[in-house]
Amino acid sequence: MGITYASDLPPAAELLVIGGGVVGAATAFHAAGAGLSPVVVERRDSPASLTTAAAAGGFRLQLETEEAYRLVRGSVELFASFAEATGQDEHGPDLRPQGYLWLTTEERMAAEQRRLAEAQRTWGLDDVEVLEEDEVRRRFPFVAPEAVQARFRAADGLLDPVGLALGLLAGSGAPVVTGCEVTGFLFSGGRVVGVRTSRGEVASDAVVIAAGPLSGPLAARAGMDLPVFTVRRQRVVVPDVPEVPPEAPMTIDEDTGAHWRPAAGGASLMFADPGEPPGPPSDPVPVDEGFARRLLDPRSPVSVARVAPFWGPVGERLLAGGGRGWSVRAGQYTMTPDHRPLIGRTGVEGLFVNTGYSGRGVMLGPSASRLLVDELLGKAEGATNPFRPDRSFAEPEGGVL
Ligand SMILES: Cc1cc2nc3c(=O)[nH]c(=O)nc-3n(C[C@H](O)[C@H](O)[C@H](O)COP(=O)(O)OP(=O)(O)OC[C@H]3O[C@@H](n4cnc5c(N)ncnc54)[C@H](O)[C@@H]3O)c2cc1C
Repeated sequence: MGITYASDLPPAAELLVIGGGVVGAATAFHAAGAGLSPVVVERRDSPASLTTAAAAGGFRLQLETEEAYRLVRGSVELFASFAEATGQDEHGPDLRPQGYLWLTTEERMAAEQRRLAEAQRTWGLDDVEVLEEDEVRRRFPFVAPEAVQARFRAADGLLDPVGLALGLLAGSGAPVVTGCEVTGFLFSGGRVVGVRTSRGEVASDAVVIAAGPLSGPLAARAGMDLPVFTVRRQRVVVPDVPEVPPEAPMTIDEDTGAHWRPAAGGASLMFADPGEPPGPPSDPVPVDEGFARRLLDPRSPVSVARVAPFWGPVGERLLAGGGRGWSVRAGQYTMTPDHRPLIGRTGVEGLFVNTGYSGRGVMLGPSASRLLVDELLGKAEGATNPFRPDRSFAEPEGGVL
């Protein structure tokens, strides 16, 4: 069973999902599983081609809060039984549990690692290992002698975000209309009763905004001021680097936030730059080629060579090649003031939102989108929904990697 691409826009939909990224796909999947008949509209020519295609493809249960841990655990259960759960095997997450390795060179961070592993054990996550320096290098010979400790979970790892989103869309059986941009909302008696699109109108009493970084401007067309902002995040793809161990885990320098994972016979390198200011939502997202230099140049303070020295000569070789050996991809994190998603009904009747996943939509969205469907069906009370869009925002806990 493949994706049901619809060439014509249906005149009406029981549930209309705006956006064919991983979050819209997960929304459609759970809605269909609950007996609803969703339709997905996507403005681009293909689904899962904006932020979801920029993602690094990491998933992990090693999280900073019990709330996030429980949600991602739900997603991981779905990933592990994906073909069975979606009833198709054409697309999937291509799960590779190669581990997540967080390295530190600082005693202060080492103490924080031990505190976090202890907290995780109290949530029931009892397979996070805290590795002392000799053990780190015995298990991962590529690690620098400066690393004093690591936290590691072997069952965390890597997946294919686009395959995951396409699999959820296929599993939903929902008609997917591509090249179709929602440009406004239809109202009757103060409630949303449908949408206006670049290809005509669709009547619907339940409309979900799952438009990733474009969710804010879209909600504004319904007169809503969504508490979201967007920040560019980039990824450097360096294919065909034989020095990269193909079985290496996602490897993170916890002191700087620079990280890399094996990919395409080489690696993907990432860094959520805390100095990157919020910017306006955009498609496409402009790239900064200088970003690659910051990660590859061994003299840079956020060089990936800091905790994995083999990157030193590799970076110098790539930089000497003048940019031929890498490409930079950019996407935007859609962020909220407390770094937790917005999921649920809005102040406009008939209009729902599912967005604001920062750097976690691939691993969080597949499970969290079930909460939206529960609210749609009246199974969950809005007031008890921890992600309701009108909540008051506390200070963020943990990072946004
Ligand atoms: C560099 C980078 C690395 C990341 N790494 C990870 C990771 O390792 N793990 C992880 O869990 N997360 C990661 N993330 C975060 C993750 O990619 C996002 O949280 C997730 O992809 C968001 O999915 P989405 O469906 O909300 O947005 P998108 O994928 O952007 O999908 C939204 C869709 O809505 C469509 N749309 C917008 N407006 C309209 C409209 N008016 N009409 C119709 N369609 C519309 C868009 O074209 C788009 O296809 C990363 C993000 C970046 C940028």
